[in-house]
Amino acid sequence: MHDKNSIHKYLFLNKIFFLIFFIFLSSCSKNIYQESKKAYKKQAKTLGKSLRNIQPDSINNQAFNVIESQNFSLRKPNFIIIHHTDQESCEQTYRTFALQRTQVSSHYVICDDGTITQMLNDLLRGWHAGNSTWGNVTDLNSVSIGIELDNDGEEPFSYAQINNLTRLLKNLTEKYKIPKQNIIGHADIAPGRKVDPSALFPWKTLAESGYGIWYDETKLDSVVIDSTFNPKKALKFIGYNISNLENAIYSFKLHFNPSDVSKTLSEKDKKILILLEDEILKLK
Ligand SMILES: [Zn+2]
Repeated sequence: MHDKNSIHKYLFLNKIFFLIFFIFLSSCSKNIYQESKKAYKKQAKTLGKSLRNIQPDSINNQAFNVIESQNFSLRKPNFIIIHHTDQESCEQTYRTFALQRTQVSSHYVICDDGTITQMLNDLLRGWHAGNSTWGNVTDLNSVSIGIELDNDGEEPFSYAQINNLTRLLKNLTEKYKIPKQNIIGHADIAPGRKVDPSALFPWKTLAESGYGIWYDETKLDSVVIDSTFNPKKALKFIGYNISNLENAIYSFKLHFNPSDVSKTLSEKDKKILILLEDEILKLK
C-alpha cells in the first residue's frame, strides 16, 4: 500500500505529466496551423502572380496574339456542396484540412455549437467534391463552395449548426447570386461513392427557408404516374449521374425520401420525382 506522501507525490507527477502532454499537444496543433497559413499565403501569392500575365497558347506552333483587356473580375462560385465531416470533432477536421498530406479541404466548417470557421477564400478551388458530376457540370470543385458540418454521420445535426448554416447560405447565395437549386449534397454529386450529408440532414427545413429544392407534399396523393414515366430520365433531369442507376436512386432517396433509403424506387419515390421535375420547371 502507498503511504500518504507517495500518493501526493504520484498525484503531483501525474499533474505535471498531463500539463506537459497538453502543452505538447497544443504546440503541435499551433505548428500545423502556422505551417498551413504560411503555405496558404505562398500558394495564393504564386496564383496571383500567374494571373498577372496572359501566357498565350499556340496552334500549329503559332502563338496567339496578346492584347490585354481591362474589363474583368474573378470567376464566381455557382454551387454550394454540403458535407458531413464523418470525424469526431471540429478540431480533427481543422487538422485534416490544414495538413498537406490529406489533399482535402473545404471553404467552411460549421461545428455543433454553430461556430463557423473559414479555411479557404470563396474564390479558390477547394478540394472537397472529388470525382463528381451534376447535370452537365463535371468539375464541381471549380464552381462550388464546400461547407462541412461537424457530424459523425450517425448523430442528428444540432439546431445551432443548422441555424448558422442557413445564415451562411443566405450570405453566400446573395453575394454570388447562387440559385437555390444549386445547393446540393456531396452524395447527390457522387452517387455510389459518397453518402454525406446523412439521412438525418434536414433538406426539407432548409428548402422551406429558401435553400435547395423540395417537392409539394400536398400533391403527393393526387399525382398520377403516367405509363410513359421514365424514372431514369427524371433522375437525370434533376441532375443525378445515372451511369449506375441503383446508386443514383440511393442518393436521390437519401436527399428526398430519407425515411426509406434504399436502391429501389417505390411508388412514392416516383411521385416525388414527378413533383420535383415540376419544381425545377417552375424555376426555369
Ligand atoms: Zn463530403
